[in-house]
Amino acid sequence: MNIHEYQAKELLKAHGVPVLDGGVAYTPDEAVRVAERLETPVFVVKSQIHAGGRGKGHFKEPEAGDKGGVRVVKSLDEVRENTEHMLGRTLVTHQTGPEGREVKRVYVESGCNIARELYLSMLIDRATSRVTIMASTEGGMDIEEVAARTPEKIVFESLDPVVGLSPYSARKIAFALKLEGGQVSACVKLLMSLYKAFMATDASMVEINPLVVTADGDLLPLDAKMNFDSNALYRQPKIESLRDEDEEDPAELEAQRHSLNYIKLDGTIGCMVNGAGLAMATMDIIKLYGGEPANFLDVGGGATRERVTTAFKIILSDPSVEGILVNIFGGIMRCDVIAEGVVAAAREVSLNVPLVVRLEGTNVDLGKKIMAESGLPIISADNLADAAEKVVKAVKEAQ
Ligand code: ADP
Ligand code: MG
Repeated sequence: MNIHEYQAKELLKAHGVPVLDGGVAYTPDEAVRVAERLETPVFVVKSQIHAGGRGKGHFKEPEAGDKGGVRVVKSLDEVRENTEHMLGRTLVTHQTGPEGREVKRVYVESGCNIARELYLSMLIDRATSRVTIMASTEGGMDIEEVAARTPEKIVFESLDPVVGLSPYSARKIAFALKLEGGQVSACVKLLMSLYKAFMATDASMVEINPLVVTADGDLLPLDAKMNFDSNALYRQPKIESLRDEDEEDPAELEAQRHSLNYIKLDGTIGCMVNGAGLAMATMDIIKLYGGEPANFLDVGGGATRERVTTAFKIILSDPSVEGILVNIFGGIMRCDVIAEGVVAAAREVSLNVPLVVRLEGTNVDLGKKIMAESGLPIISADNLADAAEKVVKAVKEAQ
């Protein structure tokens, strides 16, 4: 799960990381009120969307005086104008994809005088299963680009879970960032607080790009991005409450509400399967027969009629779905119950794309009979390969 920059900064602040003063605003009036409170000659108005690259991003349907999604301004009037200019418009960055994201809130922050822009992140490295710190003197730009062009300018520090972040490791990072004097201890303190925040919130990533050295020599995070382990949200109610549903895929949200594991993909064949392993095998075999799965969907062990219906609705809410493959193994669930669920769901959602169903397990013959006698154009399949072949063929024929 992701959160907004201003929320990440509040979290980091609560764990002792120094951040600039600022506040979120949903209207131009609110933005001005925040700015008045800041007592600074320079303000920064920042679009809040769950994507980076806002500064260099552009708005859809260009207007006169357009600039990116991060604006440095010098008066309350400009705070108002720029907030007005950004709210309600769609910001496109290299991370949003061409469809962009609508800006519904902005963060108004004190401006700061930047001497150097550095890069700092903390993430779970899957290869080592450890928290790893990534740091670079090349901040402010795309870290992927730095990694591609000058990989030697990125340093990594892998943390032992028993030791955590040692002052030694933290100092190593500070020196790699070419910090000097009092900045070294400031950096060590910042890293310690960052690590505390990371562990306490079950984060999977914190990225600060840029971390800046100000003209006065202070060290400050100017941007903050945080991701959290979704599987730990049950014990992180505070993090869960920061969720912004506007930033999430509506179908995935609906699936979560019904405890269905659904992930949207780019293909045309919707899949409804029970068990994650079988779901993956189903996606693989669809590809083998020349199709592309439109989603991963595991309806879980208790594939009741209600869940099957919800799953159908979610699959069909995706306009790119041109066919559906239901592949369910009736182990604990009986195939006749599943067949009744599929038939009822297909009726309820007035299905208009080919539907191939492969059932296997307890009462499979009764299940097939129910589908055959339903009067619905359900294509029955005998095994996984047969099912994949039939759905790919049916989609091609329907085109
Ligand atoms: P993004 O990464 O989405 O483009 P950032 O928060 O990194 O957004 O902002 C982009 C750039 O804007 C930064 O690299 C920095 O140069 C500048 N900037 C951001 N916040 C401030 C601030 N409070 N004061 C001065 N400059 C800022
Ligand atoms: Mg940034």
